Amino acid sequence: MIIQKTSKEIMLMREAGRITGNALKAAGRAIEPGMTTKELDNVIRRYIEGEGAKPSFLGLYGFKGSACISINNQVIHGIPSKDVVIRSGDIVSVDVGACINGFHGDSAYTFACGEISPEAQKLLDATRESLYLGIKQAVKGNRIGDIGHAIQEYVEARGYSVVREYTGHGVGASVHEDPNVPNFGTPHRGYRLEEGMVIAIEPMINAGTPRVRQLSDGWTVVTADGALSAHFEHTVAITADGPVILTMPDPE
Ligand code: MG
Ligand code: MG
Repeated sequence: MIIQKTSKEIMLMREAGRITGNALKAAGRAIEPGMTTKELDNVIRRYIEGEGAKPSFLGLYGFKGSACISINNQVIHGIPSKDVVIRSGDIVSVDVGACINGFHGDSAYTFACGEISPEAQKLLDATRESLYLGIKQAVKGNRIGDIGHAIQEYVEARGYSVVREYTGHGVGASVHEDPNVPNFGTPHRGYRLEEGMVIAIEPMINAGTPRVRQLSDGWTVVTADGALSAHFEHTVAITADGPVILTMPDPE
């Protein structure tokens, strides 16, 4: 069931989104070679809790971190660990959620630690761009397939592939609501987008095969061929005035 939000509820969701965006920005500033993913997770947790919000993912389905932190060939759901050290040249996908006023925000960004390879930089650029192309399609009267198609077409034209097993989703009082928002699709197919829908659009794009597998920790999803993967996400409200990104950080 898709739960449409009133404009008042979307106002409340802006605060969850703002805190989520700022937490992600704080993570980006904190990342440095030699840091563990647990230390990075602590930065995120401290920021969210300092704002009087709660990390959405802490305890969600039993998850043991405030953020999912996935390095290089890890796609999503990496568990923060004191044994995982971030090194210069790594790409670090950080997926954050914050809950306040009874609503969640959900956003992800793949950061570069130090100098990364030109190939890695191209993957990050294409994945980030595909997110914004998807967001452009998040307008009333379009369909879910229009979003996925825009993402898929852009990244596949550059030789990348779209993860099929995991998708974007509705966001609201629960961090994961209907509908699923795949990063692939057919134009004019799927649910019609209506004013008041709030969705997370989150391309997970691989440099090699689209296939993925889950590690024996029960969480971490990695590319099947070991190639790099990137992940960018925003929570977006569909309004009379077009798509509104709720998870933008505060301006400088
Ligand atoms: Mg997320
Ligand atoms: Mg999400």
